[in-house]
Amino acid sequence: EALPELLARTLPPGTVHTGVRVTSVSTTSVTTAEHGEIRCRAVLVATDARAAAELLPGLRVPEFHPVTVVHHTTDEPPETGASLLLDADLGGPVAHTAVVSRVDPSRAPAGRALVSSTVLGRPPGDLDTAVRMHLARLYGMPTARWETLAVHRTVEAVPAMRPPHDLRRPVRLIAGLYVCGDHRDTSTVQGALHSGHRASAAILADLGAGRSMHVADPLPTVPRAA
Ligand SMILES: Cc1cc2nc3c(=O)[nH]c(=O)nc-3n(C[C@H](O)[C@H](O)[C@H](O)COP(=O)(O)OP(=O)(O)OC[C@H]3O[C@@H](n4cnc5c(N)ncnc54)[C@H](O)[C@@H]3O)c2cc1C
Repeated sequence: EALPELLARTLPPGTVHTGVRVTSVSTTSVTTAEHGEIRCRAVLVATDARAAAELLPGLRVPEFHPVTVVHHTTDEPPETGASLLLDADLGGPVAHTAVVSRVDPSRAPAGRALVSSTVLGRPPGDLDTAVRMHLARLYGMPTARWETLAVHRTVEAVPAMRPPHDLRRPVRLIAGLYVCGDHRDTSTVQGALHSGHRASAAILADLGAGRSMHVADPLPTVPRAA
């Protein structure tokens, strides 16, 4: 959330509108559910793979991997600081876990610690018990009294990258119509950002713009002293 907010702050006020659902696109217009048609010179579709294929028929829809995140709270947190624990022995369902409230205390209920743990792929049937047992081994402390705050399962979390994976799928469909996202590069935040960079370079080239069209420095958040 912090990253897109930082990026948006580099743009003139009012440039970015959120909470608007796009229902169709063309090289010269975007139709939205809330605000009707918006005319434009180019369109970049930056959605997840399935939504992109709905807006751009013919685009490939990949297979996906599910990801489940289990959130626990405790008043006796492990003493691992802000480190991310990875289980190199694959001794249970948890791929990685961290005391997230050590990174961002605002994420935890007041006075408690938040431990967030990620399970890749199809989760086991006895998820909570299996995760607790695995966390007890990883953190070297009892977890039986930890409270389960939430379990978030995202079925289509990340596009599968079956070999031979194409790391540079086209982002320019035709002049005026572009697509980016994790499904064009690698299935990561970095892949999404990299494909966005490739797509914006293609747009600038097609529009004949020699350089970036917005200021590089974020707008100040507090008034500057005179
Ligand atoms: C639980 C989980 C854990 C993850 N952990 C990691 C990790 O540790 N490291 C890592 O690198 N990656 C991780 N990922 C993957 C990473 O989050 C994604 O690869 C990345 O967010 C993809 O970015 P994106 O911009 O391509 O798409 P998204 O982040 O999916 O953004 C697409 C946006 O398009 C919007 N949208 C869709 N349809 C429409 C429409 N019709 N109109 C308007 N807007 C629309 C959506 O609301 C969304 O905001 C994780 C993913 C999940 C689900």
